[in-house]
Amino acid sequence: MTRRGLLRSLLAGGIWSALKGHLFAAQPVSMKDVEALQKNWKALLAEGLKVPLPNEQLKLSKEEWRKRLGPNEFSILREEGTEPPGTSPLNNEKRPGIYICAGCGLPLFTSEMKYESGTGWPSFFASIPGAFETNTDFKLILPRTEYHCARCGGHHGHVFSDGPPPTGKRWCNNGVALKFIPKSGKV
Ligand SMILES: [Zn+2]
Repeated sequence: MTRRGLLRSLLAGGIWSALKGHLFAAQPVSMKDVEALQKNWKALLAEGLKVPLPNEQLKLSKEEWRKRLGPNEFSILREEGTEPPGTSPLNNEKRPGIYICAGCGLPLFTSEMKYESGTGWPSFFASIPGAFETNTDFKLILPRTEYHCARCGGHHGHVFSDGPPPTGKRWCNNGVALKFIPKSGKV
């Protein structure tokens, strides 16, 4: 290899590793990293923001939910609807912060658990511990794991096993069912 050729390949390699470092810097490598994200989720909470706990149950009648929620929120959270892909502004949300339940305000995910799945729905590889309960549904014949808010029972989405390592999970969430609270506190 000529000197110039060597220099060129070194430069190309350097650019690639710099780019790789930039693209994947936020992605956890091991399950220990994921557990740390889950344990320290409050680091992404806006200062002074009070949030409920999963065991502070919120139980309302269908009519009360209808009054409290907008029609799209009601259809997804209370009737297990699905929003059309690519419609949620949260697909492009990249700021640090937390995602809370649009029905009851329970913290569900942090910005550090989000990734771009390319599906058109906000996607996460992990969730805040205790945020969700799951069911198996057979609506599309093949069984899927439905998940809902542990506090208000609101439907959020389905969890699949084609997510990125190390969890391999894809929490596919309706954007309508979420509210994003940036760490800066400015919505
Ligand atoms: Zn909820």
